Amino acid sequence: MTAPNSPAPGSKMDRGNPPSPPPRTETKLSERRHEKVPSGADDLARRLRHSLDKPLASLTLTDNRSTILSARPSPRGLAVRVHRSFAGAPDPVVEALAEVAAGGRHRRAALAVVREHFRRHRPEPPRRPHRASAGEARGRHFDLAEIRDRVNQAYFGGLLDVAIAWGRAPVPRRRPQRRRTIHLGTYRADLNLVRIHPVLDRRGVPLYVVESVVHHEMLHAAMPATVVAGRRRLHTPEFRRRERLFADHERAQAWIEDHLDQLLAARYRR
Ligand SMILES: [Zn+2]
Repeated sequence: MTAPNSPAPGSKMDRGNPPSPPPRTETKLSERRHEKVPSGADDLARRLRHSLDKPLASLTLTDNRSTILSARPSPRGLAVRVHRSFAGAPDPVVEALAEVAAGGRHRRAALAVVREHFRRHRPEPPRRPHRASAGEARGRHFDLAEIRDRVNQAYFGGLLDVAIAWGRAPVPRRRPQRRRTIHLGTYRADLNLVRIHPVLDRRGVPLYVVESVVHHEMLHAAMPATVVAGRRRLHTPEFRRRERLFADHERAQAWIEDHLDQLLAARYRR
């Protein structure tokens, strides 16, 4: 998230998101496969359909480490996308998947089962030789892990799985920067990591401002960049629509604009 001093907030793109969306395999359930050993998606689709009380239109296995599961109603039934690690999951986990996907009454308990399975079976993020350490989520004033968990429950159905940490304040530049913008948050897809600028970990910064920046970056984890005419687009109209769903979005934007001078003055390490 970027706070410019122009009246159009967040018009600058975030940096540090790597290219290439993860590969996906889709199983159209109408297709008959004649393989002796069903692929993971076919098998999971069959078992999901058994547990679901509504039709399953499609099942997509993804490598998206940040979104465990999404389910979207379509004319032909539920379109479900789920992380690859659920292929071959034991029956109780598949039943829990179905409960969460269908939004059933026992969704909360089922979600715990789904998350626990994912926690134990998710792939390790790629290792980076340096600068890969996630850093601290607990700051002097705000605990980002706590904030992420709350935002996750309220806006992502508890289904987003992202790491979060305070970034390090940059060292002052020799020549003062002319640019009057500050990156209050970034999302690194390769590390599946949200970083928040430490300038927000200060007395006087309202909680809803930190929550708003966290929400924005978590949206990037939930909505991979789309490529339009060869250009990667992050802040699509749909992104902006979902960004405004955050309850204090307007208030947070206004606070950031009103306090941009203080934020810019305090951005460097001392
Ligand atoms: Zn952004």
